[in-house]
Order: sequence, then structure tokens, then C-alpha cells
Amino acid sequence: MEHKQHIFDQTIKTLKEWLKTKNQPDYKAKQIIHWVHHEQTLDPQLMTNLNKQIRQELANDFNWKNLEFDEPLYSKDGCIKWLLSTKSKSKVETVFIPETNRGTLCISSQAGCSLACTFCSTGAQGFSGNLSLAEIISQVWTAKKHLATNHTEQKLTNIVFMGMGEPLLNYNAVTSAVDLLLDDLAYGLSKYKVTISTSGIVPKMEKLKLTSKCSLAVSLHAPNDELRDTIMPINKKHPLKELIKCCSNYFKETPKRKITFEYAMLKGVNDTSNQAKQLIKLLANCPCKINLIPFNPFPKTIYECSSFNTIKNFQSILQKAGINTTIRKTRGQDIDAACGQLAGEVLDKTTRTESGKLYRTKLRNKKRPSN
Ligand code: SAH
Ligand code: SF4
Repeated sequence: MEHKQHIFDQTIKTLKEWLKTKNQPDYKAKQIIHWVHHEQTLDPQLMTNLNKQIRQELANDFNWKNLEFDEPLYSKDGCIKWLLSTKSKSKVETVFIPETNRGTLCISSQAGCSLACTFCSTGAQGFSGNLSLAEIISQVWTAKKHLATNHTEQKLTNIVFMGMGEPLLNYNAVTSAVDLLLDDLAYGLSKYKVTISTSGIVPKMEKLKLTSKCSLAVSLHAPNDELRDTIMPINKKHPLKELIKCCSNYFKETPKRKITFEYAMLKGVNDTSNQAKQLIKLLANCPCKINLIPFNPFPKTIYECSSFNTIKNFQSILQKAGINTTIRKTRGQDIDAACGQLAGEVLDKTTRTESGKLYRTKLRNKKRPSN
């Protein structure tokens, strides 16, 4: 059977190339993107400002069937979770988190994750592959359509790449998805409301800094290399000195914008007053906000969440030093949809998938550079 490209895998650029092969003007690419992502139609015959011939060619040349999602699960607090079946035969998760004046969609960028942070359920699953552009953007398309059909009072205003996977290790697909999210012709979201969260893949952060206006969150979780090495193996490859240097001038052109550092509160591991003070020193020259995330437990984890008082104390030390510090509210726990609980169903291919395997091997072999 002939394999057709999926319409969700198309960007304005690839559609222009396709139109060229049909001797059609390239402005039609924008019209097609608008129909698919803004009007949310997957029927080319409804695209009334395109002529009949082009509609037919679109129908013939692309796959127009939405990707395969399970029926959504609802949590008691209103969160909605979807499972997408990927081409790598995994299931990845998407979570909608409603709040009073906004709605945030947390999307996945990979099936599993090769970086194996010790406190993360996704990391414990292993890695099965990158998601395609279609697999990433279909999560947004499907959630938006579902809300428009079933919950018209709820709007999708924010997108965070905080689901499964490390977005910057799937750079091209993720940045193409971000372009669609920010494009007025497609989803038209504000650059302040589309956030990539990274564990600190510094070379890709440098590239992103130059090419995308989206917001950035960085998973920090430790105030020194010694601890960060043990809980986030990626730190051996890109240690704090390198990471913080990249973060300190990240929004150089717009100094009012700040990076958000995420810090999961792990009882007895990274939550002492002394560690809060180390954090203040580490971030002294880095314009930033800090978001403390109460650790969310998952089966077989060795960690516990810090007590409420410990988290409050940690927050107040940072606040006193002038760092805007918030505590993330835990949502969706009853459907395993909270931060770090997303496990999906991932067939771990790290011993077979080259990218995952190589990345881990490189991490193991990397020696700490002497300061
Ligand atoms: N790979 C990216 C994005 C996905 S993880 C990253 O690491 O930034 C999204 C956020 O959830 C990260 O800040 C991550 O460190 C945090 N997280 C992971 N496991 C967690 C857990 N069990 N409890 C609380 N937060 C967790
Ligand atoms: Fe991967 Fe992020 Fe989880 Fe670390 S925290 S294992 S980088 S998904």
C-alpha cells in the first residue's frame, strides 16, 4: 500500500513545495494551514477558498485521518488525559489542566525519555523514539477539538512541553510544532504562553535562543553539580556552569523576560535551608523565576515529597533574596497525570534504539571537566 504523508506533518514550507509540484501559487499553503489548524477541518472538500482540483489533489496526496487517541480520562479536579498510540507502538500522554482564567495543555515530545532522571516516571520507562510533528501537533488539535465540542466554556490558552520526553532531543519536530502554535494562521498563541521545558541540553538551548521566541523552563532540581550528577545524569554532559551561563543571557534582547527554573522538592535530598542558599548563589547573575514542584510519587520510586513546611521555608529563603518563587499546585494525581507521573506505555528500546543508547553511553563516559 502506498504510504501517504500525514497532513499534520506539513508546515507552510513543505506545503509550498508540494504546491510547486502542482503548478499552484504558494500563498495557498497558508490557506491550507488555516483550514487544518485554525478551522480544524480534516475534510479538504470543505476548504471552499481552494479550487476543486486542488481539493481533490490534497485528498489524494495526504493522509487526513486523525491519529489514534484513546477515550479521554477525567480527574476529579477537572484535568483531562489522553493517550496517543504512536508509530513506535507506544502510548504517550497529553494532559489538559483547567484553571479559572486559562487552560494549559501539557504535551509529550518523545515516547519515553533516554535521560533517566532518577525522580521521573517517564525516565524510568526507558526510551522508544521521537514523536513526529504530526504526533506532537495532533495532541493540540485533538484537545482543542474536544474542548470546542464538549466543554465550550474551557479554552486552551497555554501549551507546555512538560509531558513525556526531552523536547530539545527532538529539536526539528518540536520547533516546527512551536512555529504552528505561534502562527496566527494556525493556533495563534502568545510567545509567553508556549513553553519548552528542558533538562538542560545546552547546545540546543543556544540554537533555540537564536531561532524561537517561545518561553523556556529549565529543570534544575539541585543547587550543585555533585547532587545534580546523581539525580540528573545529563548534568555530567552539561554541568551547571555551562547551563547557567547559557541561561543568564537567554532573553538578552528582551531583558524583562525570564527563564523559569523548575525544582522538584525531594525530601532530605535537595530541600534544606543550606541548599536554598546555594541556589541563591548559583543564580545570582541569572534573571529568573523559580517554580517549586512538590514531588509526585510513582511506583517503586525511592523518593518522598518534602513536607509542606519544608517547601514553604525553602520558598521564603528564595523570596527574601528577591527571587520570585512559586509553588506548583499538584493536579490530576488520581489519573496519574501530575508532573513526572506520565508513564504511558513505552517499549524500552534503549538497548536497540541508537539515539537513546548512544546518548546514555556518552553520558556514562563523560568525565567532569575540572573547574
Ligand atoms: N524533559 C523535560 C520536560 C518533561 S518533564 C524536562 O525535564 O524539563 C516536566 C517537568 O516535570 C520537569 O521539570 C521534570 O523535572 C518534572 N518532574 C519529573 N518527574 C517529577 C516528579 N516525579 N515529581 C515532580 N516533578 C517531576
Ligand atoms: Fe526525561 Fe525530563 Fe523525565 Fe528527566 S525529567 S527523565 S529529562 S522527561
